[in-house]
Amino acid sequence: MEGRKVIGWAARDQSGHLSPYSFTLRETGPEDVVFKVLYCGMDHTDLHQMRNEIHSTNYPLVPGHEVVGEVVELGSEVKKFRVGDIIGVGCIVGSCGECFSCKSNIEQYCNNRIFTFNGTYKDGRPTQGGFSSAMVVHQKFVVGIPEKLAPEQAAPLLCAGVTAYSPLKQFNRTDKVVKAGILGLGGVGHLGVLIAKAMGHHVTVISSSDKKRVEALEHLGADAFLVSSNSAEMEQAVNSLDYILDTVPAVHPLQSYLSLLNVDGKLILVGEAPNPLHFDSVDLILGKKTISGSFIGSIEETQEILEFWAEKGLTSMIEVVKMDYANKAFERMERNDVRYRFVLDVAGSNMEY
Ligand code: NAP
Ligand code: ZN
Repeated sequence: MEGRKVIGWAARDQSGHLSPYSFTLRETGPEDVVFKVLYCGMDHTDLHQMRNEIHSTNYPLVPGHEVVGEVVELGSEVKKFRVGDIIGVGCIVGSCGECFSCKSNIEQYCNNRIFTFNGTYKDGRPTQGGFSSAMVVHQKFVVGIPEKLAPEQAAPLLCAGVTAYSPLKQFNRTDKVVKAGILGLGGVGHLGVLIAKAMGHHVTVISSSDKKRVEALEHLGADAFLVSSNSAEMEQAVNSLDYILDTVPAVHPLQSYLSLLNVDGKLILVGEAPNPLHFDSVDLILGKKTISGSFIGSIEETQEILEFWAEKGLTSMIEVVKMDYANKAFERMERNDVRYRFVLDVAGSNMEY
């Protein structure tokens, strides 16, 4: 038996153009949570996938993996949620449950993780994301949204927020002021600034132009701002940072950024460049520096960032738009013309066409 009929907006080919698409959810299993989608954040990864720039995309593709919804139905064995609860789903909706990563509660690193969209569910059906009127997700991959958080504010935390929070947690210490660098002030980067500041770090934003200087310093509370093409500014900051969170979604030369790191400093890659990045080994060797990567965060950490955000009273900068603006919003995201995250008002959009 099939589950409920829903309407999503799907990309049909590499143009990435979204248009209405009707499909059915799976029948509600005993551990499934069915929810009406309220809001969904728009991430650069959505765009990479819509255009087949990362993994092979299966079309039609309904993107969206920062999904906030209201529970409308529960499987018989779901005890931790009730109908009417406001809940969230991030980038993954399944994993094997058996491997080291799954057993260590870092299921995002499971080799058999199931992506929220452009994945294949255990029943062989394609997974479809949050640009859709409703979704069905196994309870393990559903988090509760704290009452203090507005649902549209919670959406970007489910991917971008936890992507910044998970690697930054290792620097959440009180014995010294950590010198942070946030490279690329977009969706992930601006949440990175707010999280790092809330952890007490001294935050330097490294940006590709001067356009976001005032916003970074005055609205987001960053302590310093560097334009990466300004060699005098970059030179002054050499050997000053303990870490750099690199959110750039494009190929970029690493050498000048590595030079900003102090001894033992870490460059943490989260931005997905479509082609290989290059660096000289001596740039690492002579400063005992590390280049690492980090992928979203665990379900546990996703719940943690939501609580952290609510407790610290943080507010992200979002632009809420309707579904029929989604194509335009992605165009603007590509032009670096968003402050700093688009969030789709899915429930408030007319999904019937
Ligand atoms: P975004 O909103 O487009 O922000 C990216 C920022 O990078 C831009 O605002 C811009 O900041 C800078 N930038 C863009 N193009 C650049 C270029 N050619 N050279 C230098 N800087 C450039 O994207 P996002 O949603 O934050 O996502 C960022 C990246 O992280 C994407 O690749 C996405 O796929 C990836 N991501 C990874 C994970 C993970 O788990 N690892 C999770 C979420 C997203 P400035 O104007 O300040 O230069
Ligand atoms: Zn696993």
